[in-house]
Amino acid sequence: MTRPNSPWRWPDCRVLPDASPCVLPPQEAALVVRSNLGTDPRLPELASGFRPGKQPVIAQDYLAVTANPLATQAGCRVLHQGGSAMDAAVAVQLVLGLVEPQSSGIGGGAFILHYDASTGQLQSYDGRETAPAASSENDLRLISASDPNPLHPRLAHPFLSARASGRSIGTPGVLRMLEMAHQDYGRQTWSSLFEPAIQIATEGFVISPRMAAAIRTARNDLLRDPDASAYFLNPDLSAKSVGTVLRNPDYAATLATIAREGAQAFYIGPIAESIVNKIKVNRGSDHAPVAMTPGLTELSDLANYRAARREPVCRPYRQTIICGMGPPSTGGIAVAQTLGILENFDLKAHRPSVVQSDGGRPTVTGIHVISEAQRLAYADRYRYVADTDFVPLPGLGVDTLLDPGYLASRAALISTQQSMGVAKPGVFANTQAQGDNTSEGNGTTHISLVDRAGNVVVMTSTIESGMGSFHFTRGFLLNNQLTDFSFQPADSLGPIANRLQPLKRPASSMSPTLVFHRKADGSRGDFLMATGSPGGPSIIQYVVKTLVSVLDWGLDAQQATSMVNFGAGNSPTTHVGGEHPAIDPEIDPKADPKAAPKADPIVSGLRALGHTVSTAAQSSGVATIVRLPNASEPSTPATPKRSVYVGGVDPRREGVALGGQPRLDQ
Ligand code: GLU
Repeated sequence: MTRPNSPWRWPDCRVLPDASPCVLPPQEAALVVRSNLGTDPRLPELASGFRPGKQPVIAQDYLAVTANPLATQAGCRVLHQGGSAMDAAVAVQLVLGLVEPQSSGIGGGAFILHYDASTGQLQSYDGRETAPAASSENDLRLISASDPNPLHPRLAHPFLSARASGRSIGTPGVLRMLEMAHQDYGRQTWSSLFEPAIQIATEGFVISPRMAAAIRTARNDLLRDPDASAYFLNPDLSAKSVGTVLRNPDYAATLATIAREGAQAFYIGPIAESIVNKIKVNRGSDHAPVAMTPGLTELSDLANYRAARREPVCRPYRQTIICGMGPPSTGGIAVAQTLGILENFDLKAHRPSVVQSDGGRPTVTGIHVISEAQRLAYADRYRYVADTDFVPLPGLGVDTLLDPGYLASRAALISTQQSMGVAKPGVFANTQAQGDNTSEGNGTTHISLVDRAGNVVVMTSTIESGMGSFHFTRGFLLNNQLTDFSFQPADSLGPIANRLQPLKRPASSMSPTLVFHRKADGSRGDFLMATGSPGGPSIIQYVVKTLVSVLDWGLDAQQATSMVNFGAGNSPTTHVGGEHPAIDPEIDPKADPKAAPKADPIVSGLRALGHTVSTAAQSSGVATIVRLPNASEPSTPATPKRSVYVGGVDPRREGVALGGQPRLDQ
């Protein structure tokens, strides 16, 4: 098959329906490259190499893309049976909480964007964790006002201590959000969607390489929790290894209760009591009998938790309209700002060279311009964007931050000759909080789904860092999401927008994104593309890379997903993901003193423009769907051509894309 060289054109091949949907491809040969390259230390989860040569998956009627084969299969089956994209999201999340527990689960939070193909309506859902009602602004640093000592357990870094204590645990939001969204857009019964996860938890599954690495890395932390040790560690306290069959009867029992009684059974009653008791633990296990600072969550925090419907953030970009998640995520605004700045540049002129299955080699100028635009967007993100139920955005809000004139003025700050290093935030009248939150500390997963009716769900779901807070109860891990708040409530400029406050939701970088065609009158047209990724603060960079790769550079969904990760936060360091086979990573002389000092021409080109460059491995987990007109069917006014969906899944994680897959015949 010829690879499409433009997102708007489909290669000349016939698409035939497949007789056996949702069958997982044979296990890929274990070709993983670059798995020993050090992970970028800012990232919440370990990198695990790159699987080169992935091909796009083409589906006719429905498509599921997730970071784990069993989760994708569960979603695909729901879609095959005629379930909605939202039904599939519920089934996928429950399986992911079992087979990819390091990244997401019912003990965490998430955001969803849903597109209703019949009405054109777009809705976003906020299931972000909240701080306990009894919180105060220094809870992530100090035991209390009367005992102003650092938190227990005493670990190497204040972030690590806060993360491993009960203080980091926010009231989980995933289940209330899924229930709300399922009430709006579900077609199958709530309880039926729990069956795949209950079955896998009961019968067992094989620990994957990424899950095994996550357990190994977290072993000493898991040891402090007797329930986590009993599940993730062997009787001799070594980490359970890849290939071990794991059963989780406690998770199966938890899910059976919630399937029967609804999300309420998680928030009120015995499950809620176990969560609160776990958060209040003040001592580690017999194997690690250390002091632990308890969290301040009460049963009332769980009983009172509410998910929210929010207004998505939409903005035109060239011939499309891009929609993302608004506050408390900063992702939608930061992605839209970056693209709004980039609209002032001709990115097509900087298309990657050597385009092949894995994307291509980005150009120095392309990386330079895009990373400068990101510095400017992150500067505003860290200064101004937090939970708007507590701290309003400057000026008129989203419209002020996305104003084309404002973004053109930001674009004018970019020199093609020299990196700005660190960008200053924009200046606005009428701003409440002024402090700077760039010191934000920082597992997560992304799901993209489309059903037979053309409805689409993008969901990014998280327990924050890999293995969350290491607190484990009733078969699931609790998040450490509150460490996404600023640890300091204020600095010399004033209070920080993202400071910890009671019942507030921490700012997030999660960026589930939907792209639509832009009609001649400027309004939002048909669905074109869905994407998103985990990766902590780098999520915004991964999403921008994927969008630009499809929309400006004409790469297909897989090429764009596989493409070299590059970009910058608001610091002099620009990241060029060395896990990608197209990049020559720099070897730390400490790791290999004999390695010859050399620099990839991309790296030296960026250095010549004043960038500090890191080629540390990036741990993205992009899941992309692009909808294309199908050139293979005759089109008549009575039977217009149907579309096909092209899926791309990140070769840096373990996922697959599966759908109503046609056979391709040339
Ligand atoms: N907690 C982070 C956020 O909400 C996501 C962390 C991750 O991607 O692993 O922005």
